[in-house]
Amino acid sequence: MSTPMHPATPFRLRDLQWQVRSWFGTRLWAQVLLGLCLGIAVGAALSPEVGWVDRRAAVTAGAWLAVPGRLFLAIIGMVLVPLVMISIIKGMLGGGSMAQLRTVGLRLLLFVTLTTGLGAGLGVLLGQGIAPGAGIAAANGTTAARQTAQRPPTPDLPSLIVNLVPSNPQAALAERDMLAIVILALFLGAAALVADRTKTAPFLGALDGLLEISMTLVKWAMYLAPWAVFGLLADVIARSGLVAVAGLTTYVLTVLAGLLALMLLYVLIVTVFARRHPVDFLRRISGVMLLAFSTSSSAAVIPLSIDTAVRNLEVPESIANFTIPLGATINMAGTALYQAVAVCFLAQLSGVALTPESLATIVLTLIVTSIGAPGTPGVGIVILANIVTGFGIPTTGIALILGVDRLLDMFRTTVNVTGDLTVSVLLRNARRD
Ligand code: ASP
Repeated sequence: MSTPMHPATPFRLRDLQWQVRSWFGTRLWAQVLLGLCLGIAVGAALSPEVGWVDRRAAVTAGAWLAVPGRLFLAIIGMVLVPLVMISIIKGMLGGGSMAQLRTVGLRLLLFVTLTTGLGAGLGVLLGQGIAPGAGIAAANGTTAARQTAQRPPTPDLPSLIVNLVPSNPQAALAERDMLAIVILALFLGAAALVADRTKTAPFLGALDGLLEISMTLVKWAMYLAPWAVFGLLADVIARSGLVAVAGLTTYVLTVLAGLLALMLLYVLIVTVFARRHPVDFLRRISGVMLLAFSTSSSAAVIPLSIDTAVRNLEVPESIANFTIPLGATINMAGTALYQAVAVCFLAQLSGVALTPESLATIVLTLIVTSIGAPGTPGVGIVILANIVTGFGIPTTGIALILGVDRLLDMFRTTVNVTGDLTVSVLLRNARRD
């Protein structure tokens, strides 16, 4: 007599499969985390240190694996300008008066200036205290502090202020000058707020329609997000390997220690001022953090950041629409911190002494430049090159830190984006004040 099969077993298995699938299907952070782990594993298998795959084949494989990620970034890039502009305009019109808007705007600016200043200051303290470049300089026979840093040329402030106004909006749009685009949106939003609504209604309706279409494209792009994370990471590690970091361990650890401190500061701010449980806050924003980490772009995660702020952190849509796109452009304390450590590192490398006066000027310069820089990958290092030139520090060392820049970019972007969400939570009741 044949034993009858237990009827419940296959059903349970299928049940489990279904449960796992629906659990994963509804949790973007879990999909992204899986993509992240698999991306690191595949990248490591293709990396030069492991040496399993021929170099050229590994680079080609990396380029193919990065296709979904590059497509993701291209689609977001396609809708980024209308998305940023309309979100800001809508955020400004969203139920608040000019006075309330000024309150939110000024508080945002205060938060950005204070945290960026703190980030740059901490970067200088760590960079000078730990002196990550001193060891390499000694090994190369560079005697410390042979010359003193130059005074950078005094900026032409009047022209700088006038140039903030985007007199040629087409050029700003064509060049994707994000600061100019944000300023343009702020002007349009402020004017729309006081203009006669009966006359502006058709224009605002058209903006609503365009935003809806842009968000639909973003939703499509989001399906690619886990694959994007997987492929972009696999590609980076396959190309530069894991050991690229080894020679610059002290420098990398100094930057990471500073970024960790900044992250803790944000969590502390959220805990103390917004009365949120720190672990719960981090759990709710984990999807955005992971996507920021793998795309290295605050701008690319704007749509997900807005969604997370509204759905997971109960920030009113009108506030999130204003603070997130604006924050992604002007709020980059992580970048300022990294640049401060890098300037000290490069100065130590070439034996240039930084006087207290030049250190203070560096902090001020970094506050201004990180506010003006767009939130896209690798921006930090480009601006860094300009800053060090201004202080008469040779730029040759930049080639050295370029090898680890992508890795540090991932961490500093995660911190930058956490800052945007922190300020959004902080200001969520600002319009009712
Ligand atoms: N990738 C950074 C961001 O988007 C900017 C940078 O530091 O390069 O926030």
